[in-house]
Amino acid sequence: MSTSASDYSACTLCPRRCGADRRTGVGYCGMGAVPTAAKASLHKWEEPCIAYKNGAGTVFFTGCSLHCVYCQNNVISRELHGAQTSSDSLADIFLRLQEQGADNIELVTPTHFLPDIIDALEKVKPKLNVPVVYNTGGYELTETIRLLDGLVDVYLPDIKYFSPELSARYSNAPDYFDHASAAVEEMIRQVGDLCYNDEGGLLKGTVIRHLVLPNCRHDSIKIMEWIAEHTTSEQVLVSIMNQYTPFGFIPDSFPELKRRVTKMEYNSVVRRASELGLNGFTQEKSSADAQYVPDFDLSGIK
Ligand code: SF4
Repeated sequence: MSTSASDYSACTLCPRRCGADRRTGVGYCGMGAVPTAAKASLHKWEEPCIAYKNGAGTVFFTGCSLHCVYCQNNVISRELHGAQTSSDSLADIFLRLQEQGADNIELVTPTHFLPDIIDALEKVKPKLNVPVVYNTGGYELTETIRLLDGLVDVYLPDIKYFSPELSARYSNAPDYFDHASAAVEEMIRQVGDLCYNDEGGLLKGTVIRHLVLPNCRHDSIKIMEWIAEHTTSEQVLVSIMNQYTPFGFIPDSFPELKRRVTKMEYNSVVRRASELGLNGFTQEKSSADAQYVPDFDLSGIK
């Protein structure tokens, strides 16, 4: 696969492989051929090894190929709030975040703009003395992730679902786990074992995030078991998230998603992860609040 701008002409960057000509229209992800983002700033609400001093230098990209019915970042994923930029501007944004003291450059939901992101990273990588973090919902093609080899230092993928029924119901992606698990294995192959600086900041490695959903603890536990079986604690940290917030836009046909996760549900997943010897992070219940959704005010982009 080349990574020229022509990739946008019949796009197959993600598992949707919808083939959209994004120079004249948009794909399933809602985005055309111009990289678009909603915020670039220092962001403190990340795992302690990702935001350990001044905060991650986070760039939130607009659009998403998953469209989960309960999306916690709906304003940018489906309402498509954002400002257009370019690969040159992205390169400047990355350097500016570094100048501001960012602990890293964290790209959030970036894959549908990969040709421009690779272009920007190739321009600035020699000037960056902080790691590049790739934060993704996990619905990725292995061959697309392979294009990032040598450009990304830390992978921060979700594994959202194990069951095809669940991923079909909530994200219209029955093949989610097949792609996410293969992509995570490719990520680990690229960045290898976890490596930290003296301040506990992650320089290399993979952190797998999992957001526990209402009624889904058995699925969550299967994900923990897969991680234990297919990765080592030298390679991977696991972040078990408790911040699920039922926003008002969830359709009435998903009544089970209209409540928060109970203590019993969350703790049962954490307990199993601990029994399996997984290392990583848990979250306080107080994190389940809309105030933790960033204000997508286009700052740092325009
Ligand atoms: S990145 Fe967007 S346009 Fe490309 S295949 Fe995925 S959904 Fe379709």
